[in-house]
Parts: sequence; structure tokens; C-alpha cells
Amino acid sequence: MKKHNFSAGPSILPEFTKEKTAEAVMNFAGTGLSVMEVSHRSKEFVAVMEQARQLVKELLNVPEGYSVLFLQGGASLQFLMAPMNFLEKKAAYLNTGTWASKALKEAKTYVGEVLEVASSKDMNFNYIPKGYVVPDDVDYFHYTSNNTIFGTEIHEDPEVAVPMICDMSSDIFSRPVDVSKYDLIYAGAQKNLGPSGATLVIVKDAALGKVTRPIPTMLDYRIHIQNDSMFNTPGTVPVFGCLQTLLWLKELGGVEVIQKVNRQKADLLYAEIDRNKMFRSTVPDPADRSVMNVTFVMAPEFAEMEKAFGDFASSRGMVGLKGHRSVGGFRASIYNAMPLESVQALVDVMKEFEQQN
Ligand SMILES: *Cc1c(COP(=O)(O)O)cnc(C)c1O
Repeated sequence: MKKHNFSAGPSILPEFTKEKTAEAVMNFAGTGLSVMEVSHRSKEFVAVMEQARQLVKELLNVPEGYSVLFLQGGASLQFLMAPMNFLEKKAAYLNTGTWASKALKEAKTYVGEVLEVASSKDMNFNYIPKGYVVPDDVDYFHYTSNNTIFGTEIHEDPEVAVPMICDMSSDIFSRPVDVSKYDLIYAGAQKNLGPSGATLVIVKDAALGKVTRPIPTMLDYRIHIQNDSMFNTPGTVPVFGCLQTLLWLKELGGVEVIQKVNRQKADLLYAEIDRNKMFRSTVPDPADRSVMNVTFVMAPEFAEMEKAFGDFASSRGMVGLKGHRSVGGFRASIYNAMPLESVQALVDVMKEFEQQN
């Protein structure tokens, strides 16, 4: 039976990415060696790294004066690298969920004032705070564009007077971004880009070197820039996988094209959740609903049927639908690589379950 992979991360990747990576694991770029066993300094792998960085610039329209890096340690390491390199006196954070809270927690371990400008914790993070004020004397404003666990998303670059830092782990490359508004964008690869083990960083060169604290070598963005993301050994297979997804996305027409497809998939699924009497979205305001992670629960009258629906969906090939424990219910992660047909298959399963009950 065909599996429809709705996992939150690691998550679905394009067939193209999997096929090309499988080939390179056996014979990389005609070397007769595996991409797992060649030197990261070989000309073949350096070309992979260079092309991946170049394609990130091309697809996201990254302006001059920014560096693209592939690092390790996940978005979680960026939670502390960001303040280490950018927090001198004061920073502002928007708290929209588990990951945003973790970023805030790390920033608070440094010398400097860390403001939480707004939080949606009062409603278990089921909305995006509005009307908050970002003071204009902060070093940066940090936010999380897509809240993978709670199914909310900030769909457009916020309008603030200070440089921004954003965790885009789960919606990077799903839509265009105005990179010029950011000092730093970071994303773990395993949601929308490639296998786990690589972290994408886009950083504004001129914004670096302003903090007075000493920065350990491995945590200094400037070191990674100077060394073309090869200060230490990069994850060769993860970076190779990311490159394949970037090539796939370019071939498809880029972020403007995938944005339309993503919208279509999300609209289809939210429409069914809103129509079907057995289900409820966990995010009441449609404007705050994520295009990438669609969270929903059983309607109160059908609460006891949660397990039955989960089992029914599994029996039809749906994988990874269980919601995060802090929300419960279900979460359909419908990243770039998720085809419309799989979303339609889930919608059909929801309709069928309603008819049977
Ligand atoms: C998954 C995720 C993280 C954590 O990423 P790691 O690579 O595991 O550190 C951070 N932020 C967001 C928004 C995520 O979705």
C-alpha cells in the first residue's frame, strides 16, 4: 500500500532527492566512491557545497553582503549561537510556541536584557500575538515564522524598525522572504530541505563582529564564513541531500510556484476540517493557520473516537499523523515535498470516516 508521510520532521522528501542521494551513496559524481567516503575537501564535494550555497541565494533572492552556511547542531544550536553573536545590550523575542520558548531561554543565559514582547502561551499557543511593540533600541527582534508543533504561522515578514532574526526551520523555501530585513535566518534541514544533520544559516556579514564578548571558535559565524562552511567536517550526505531538494525546487519553478501549490494543499485540508462535523482545527483564526503543519482534533462530541480515526487513517497508509503531546489530536505536516494527491487521500479518509460514523 502507498504510504503518505505526514511526519513533522524528519519528514517527506522529494523522490528526486531520495533517488539522487541513493545513487551518490553508491557512486558519487563518477568517483567510484560513496558520498559517505570521499573527502569533504575533494573537488567533487566542494562543488556540492558551493552549488547548494549558490542555489539558496538564487531561490531566496539573497542580496549581496550575506553569507550562506551549512552547519551542524540543528536549529537548537542556533538558539544560542544567535544571541552569542548578536546580543550586546538588549534583544526582543516573540514567544509563539515550544521552539520560540527554547530560543528565548537560551538568550536569557547571556549578559544582556532579553524582552518577551508578546506571548500566546495563555491559549496554548493557538494564535499569533498582534499589536505588540518592538522597542527600537534592541539589537534584534527574534521570531519563529512557523510553529511546527502548534500549527500557527506568521505568513509575511513582520514590519519592525530593527534587524530581525528568524527561526524558519519548518517553512523555509515554502514562500518568498525579504532576506534584506534579516541579520540572520536559520533552519534545521529536516523539515523542508533535506535529511537531518544539516542546518542552513543565512547571515548578514556587516552585522557580525559587533558584540564585545569572546566567541568560541566553533560558535563564531565569521569562522564558518571564512572557511566556506568547512571549518570542521560538514555532514556530507545531509548537504548532498539538501542540494538535490534545491535542484528539485528550482526545476519546479522556485518559491513563488511552490507557494501556490502549498496554499492549494492547505486550503483543501482546512476546508475539510471546517466542513467535517467530526473534526476541529486547533487554530481558530484562519489567518494564523500554518500552511505547513495542519493541527486538528476530534470535535468534542466525537472525542472518544480519536484512536479509532488514528487507526483508520493508518490502515489507509497515512503515516505520522499523531499530534504533538502538547496539543494532542492530529498534525498533518504538508511540507513542499508533499504532493496534492496525498492531501486529497487524507481528505478522502476523513470523509469516509465521517460517513461510517
Ligand atoms: C524542528 C524545529 C526546531 C528544532 O530543530 P533541531 O534541528 O532538532 O534543533 C527548531 N525550530 C523549529 C521551528 C522547528 O520546527
